[in-house]
Amino acid sequence: MQSTMQDFPLTVGMIFRHGRTVHNASEVVTFEGEKSRRATFAEVGDRAERLAAALRRLKVDVGDRVGTLAWNTQEHLEAYFAIPGIGAVLHTLNLRLFPEQLAYIINHAEDRVIILDDTLVPILAPLAPQLSTVEHYIVIGDGDASALEGGTASVHRYGELLAAEQPGYQWPEIDERAAAAMCYTSGTTGNPKGVVYSHRSTFLHSMGVGEGSAARYTDRDRMLPVVPMFHANAWGAPYAAWMAGADLLLPGRYLQCEPLSVFIETERPTCASAVPTIWTDLLHYTEQHPVDLSSLRMVVCGGSAVPRALIEAYEERFGIRMVQAWGMTETSPLAAVAWPPKDVALGTTEEMDFRSMTGRVMPGVELRIVGDDGAVLPWDGVAVGEIEVRGPWITASYYRDRTPEKFHDGWLRTGDIASVTPGGYLRITDRTKDVIKSGGEWISSVELEGHLMAHPDVAEAAVIAVPDARWDERPLACVVLRPDTEVGAEQLREFLRDRVTKWQLPERWTFIDQVPKTSVGKFDKKVLRARHADGALVVEEIG
Ligand code: ADP
Repeated sequence: MQSTMQDFPLTVGMIFRHGRTVHNASEVVTFEGEKSRRATFAEVGDRAERLAAALRRLKVDVGDRVGTLAWNTQEHLEAYFAIPGIGAVLHTLNLRLFPEQLAYIINHAEDRVIILDDTLVPILAPLAPQLSTVEHYIVIGDGDASALEGGTASVHRYGELLAAEQPGYQWPEIDERAAAAMCYTSGTTGNPKGVVYSHRSTFLHSMGVGEGSAARYTDRDRMLPVVPMFHANAWGAPYAAWMAGADLLLPGRYLQCEPLSVFIETERPTCASAVPTIWTDLLHYTEQHPVDLSSLRMVVCGGSAVPRALIEAYEERFGIRMVQAWGMTETSPLAAVAWPPKDVALGTTEEMDFRSMTGRVMPGVELRIVGDDGAVLPWDGVAVGEIEVRGPWITASYYRDRTPEKFHDGWLRTGDIASVTPGGYLRITDRTKDVIKSGGEWISSVELEGHLMAHPDVAEAAVIAVPDARWDERPLACVVLRPDTEVGAEQLREFLRDRVTKWQLPERWTFIDQVPKTSVGKFDKKVLRARHADGALVVEEIG
């Protein structure tokens, strides 16, 4: 029997129309270092329509890829609506990729147009001769763009293109299964891989992000996505906040603690999202410089394991609820969020135990863990295996990249190793490529790092596997101390003694100036392993 329901397409256009009409007075604020620019959703809507008309005038067609190389700004948000709205594909370019990777993804996606911030011209211009598919550059701002001139592509000014058009563009009807946007993974191994989101997946993900088991946005919120719009869609915030009518506070390129604090104090966000590094830096910054964070009711933190000590510090020092989330570019990205279960009393250790887990799987995502032999393991909080996920906002393949080994009977293999409790809370212990296998048993590098980073003298710690004649592999703790501290390996090992079982205690230690990071700010353990293999790390052995 067929249903009687309308078969109504779920599109980015539907998200757009809802926000601009129902929440027309909500605002988008873009920080420019000292002052902010503001526009209502209605005004942003008008400008998105002008941009849509301008792109059509440049002959951008259904299915064409339009790249954006931009910080979190109002114009980037306009592009988020205009490009999918005309049936083209928004390709967010990660400006922190290595230049050759940036050129690779633009060519691989065959971008026809690139919209970019004037401040980012120096990143793109040297690559321009290699970008054979690009016909137009559209520069936001009136900074110097002469370095882009002289090639085969024409250079336009964003402001001028919009000024030449009128609002009221007639949006075409779009198939919900058509591509809306694409994003490449950061490619820590090999070339980046492209994930293509559909209108339908974007709509459903946006609904999922806003609802009760995830970010819980309302029209009383002022949302500050510090997570870049070029990295996994700023974790879905632009569309989900727009849908809910939450004001969007966009920090532009001012992500350092000092300007970010000014922006927070003046614009008073109620919620924000950023990776652990940003929250850790801000925490340390506030020790020297008092910052009024009192407007924040919750902050979302994820992208890599969130140390429990960080969650506790925000709770104790500022009364801010830090909510851990998990996901990946391939999962749109949100897939699990660590709200504690209802029967746990607030403020207890037990509550913190749940909050420091990786997350509880969201509705809309199905998740299982699988052992080395491919067998599905129980959700008993003990068994540990690779997370596999499926659902309407999980990718089923990579764009023009055959990688059958990344999928398993219709499930995406995430490369994350975890246990899952009967209630659906996962605890990630490692990436498949980072696991430490000592005498046949796994040692969780993530757990050791979390404990080490709880030590007051430790700024950062990354633990990698190194070869060991007896145990096959053992952990090497790579520690970055905070300025003016001199705690040694012996003391740190003592500190760990109460926290992990004895055989997991690292005997190899090295003190480094900083942990190498990937283009999206995650610990780059591949680089650390290579440095160790080259003998470039000074390793102390104790115990
Ligand atoms: P990349 O482009 O590096 O793949 P992603 O943001 O897609 O960037 O990275 C996804 C990966 O980040 C996940 O597979 C997982 O390993 C890690 N990750 C994300 N959130 C968490 C978290 N809360 N705890 C532990 N690891 C996380």
